[in-house]
Amino acid sequence: MSMIVKGDRLPNFVGGKWCTSNTRDVLPVPNPATEEVLALVPLSGTAEVDAAVRSAQEAFLAWRETPVTERVRILLKFRELLVQHLDTLSRTLTEENGKTLNEAKAEIWRGIEVVEFAAGMPSLMKGEVTPQVSRGIDMEMVRDPVGVVAGITPFNFPVMVPLWMVPLALAAGNTFVLKPSERTPLSAVRLVELAVEAGLPEGVFNLVHGGKEAVDALLCHPGVDAVSFVGSQPVAEHVYKTAAAHGKRVQALAGAKNCHIVHEDANMEGAVQSITGSAFGCAGQRCMAGSVVVVLESVADRFLKDLVAAAERVRVGNGLEEGTEQGPLIRDEHRKKVLERIEQGLKEGAVMLRDGRNLVDQMDRGFFLGPTILDRVRPEMTVFREELFAPVLSVIRVKDLDEAIRVVNRSRFGNAAVLYTESGKAARRFRERVQAGMLGINVGVPVPAAFYPFSGWKQSFYGDLHANGKDAVEFYTRKKVVTSRWFG
Ligand code: NAD
Repeated sequence: MSMIVKGDRLPNFVGGKWCTSNTRDVLPVPNPATEEVLALVPLSGTAEVDAAVRSAQEAFLAWRETPVTERVRILLKFRELLVQHLDTLSRTLTEENGKTLNEAKAEIWRGIEVVEFAAGMPSLMKGEVTPQVSRGIDMEMVRDPVGVVAGITPFNFPVMVPLWMVPLALAAGNTFVLKPSERTPLSAVRLVELAVEAGLPEGVFNLVHGGKEAVDALLCHPGVDAVSFVGSQPVAEHVYKTAAAHGKRVQALAGAKNCHIVHEDANMEGAVQSITGSAFGCAGQRCMAGSVVVVLESVADRFLKDLVAAAERVRVGNGLEEGTEQGPLIRDEHRKKVLERIEQGLKEGAVMLRDGRNLVDQMDRGFFLGPTILDRVRPEMTVFREELFAPVLSVIRVKDLDEAIRVVNRSRFGNAAVLYTESGKAARRFRERVQAGMLGINVGVPVPAAFYPFSGWKQSFYGDLHANGKDAVEFYTRKKVVTSRWFG
């Protein structure tokens, strides 16, 4: 039985108990496709964050002493429950976020893959030993959990991003306080319910709803040892600086502006299909979305003609409906900001090639914006410099690959970059020179698998150790080196 009652205030989960936040500050959570209010989310205050951190601290000793094999057995049960409840969980995700049911399912599967990776923790967190490092002396390195981890997550992947953090942190022996996005808090409630059903002991996994006040309380709380954050660039910078100033280990994954270079020898059909999916899928609200096409002038007109035709065919609507390919934006305020950016782009000299703004008036409910393509964008324009987080694609025309790579590298972000080519030589040059952490060669959304790091560069990432892969094992453990000898 779920704790979620339509239209009601969502509960926090602290010390193994569901509890009502005592704050008067609540926000409605609308379905962005219908505007129907799904729930009310409390914006919890400092005292509630404190209670959650204390409960995680109290649970820590027993949890870290629970054998890693037992910890991962609970996670394997959690995995089973995620698979069993895939249909209802994806529906909740679609209702609160707007993405299509297929996108929701794909997101949950990417999260499940992290649980599967975390189940390898008995091997992943093994130490090292050098017997006889000196005469009669042995040296060993063991990994300890860090302590209490706070996870602060964005609206755009309400299941996958918490699952980047929670299974790995818990498998390594940490306890956890999750502060999900206040715009998509329902999936987080379901995740906690399933984790509890899987057998997590009291206090190991806590959930506190809220916004800035709750985040700041976590960043400054002396009981929080590590902070994993995913969200927009300005907030990531704030989280990184504040958490570090309070002596915490911190990783903060941030915004993006991902360029897709179309080389003259690209397979045009493949490139058009891949860019359409990358730019307009999830309504462009993905940190891995392609938001700029850098196309070689020699093939630009031919390529853009096909791209516009493909954008015309994207079926925009309620993600719950069969056949929908693109859902709405998360909120009307966000859509308004995007519309302002489009206007600004046009004023700065961009040319509208495909206008998705007609949908704004056409749909009587929901925060929809159709696929939009702006041509003749230049790197100094705001539409190139800022993340729009919308189904808006900017096109920059260049003369050759080197100029294309220079354009990509002008961005202050460095999350993903993609090259469409059939030439190994061009691909090698791209791989060597591009300043971004996740590259795709003819792959539009080059998300690393759970056992690789999610490796943004530049202002797309603040910290040293990335999410997932061995980096996550490093992040959620600390090393202890023991030098021993035995007299007698
Ligand atoms: P956001 O920064 O608005 O919110 C993220 C979290 O920070 C939320 O939990 C929110 O409550 C909290 N928050 C918001 N404002 C705050 C403030 N002023 N002080 C303290 N906490 C605050 O991000 P969003 O709009 O929910 O998510 C979209 C953004 O996340 C995009 O920029 C996207 O690129 C980025 N993102 C990045 C990755 C990545 O891996 N690099 C993945 C997903 C999303």
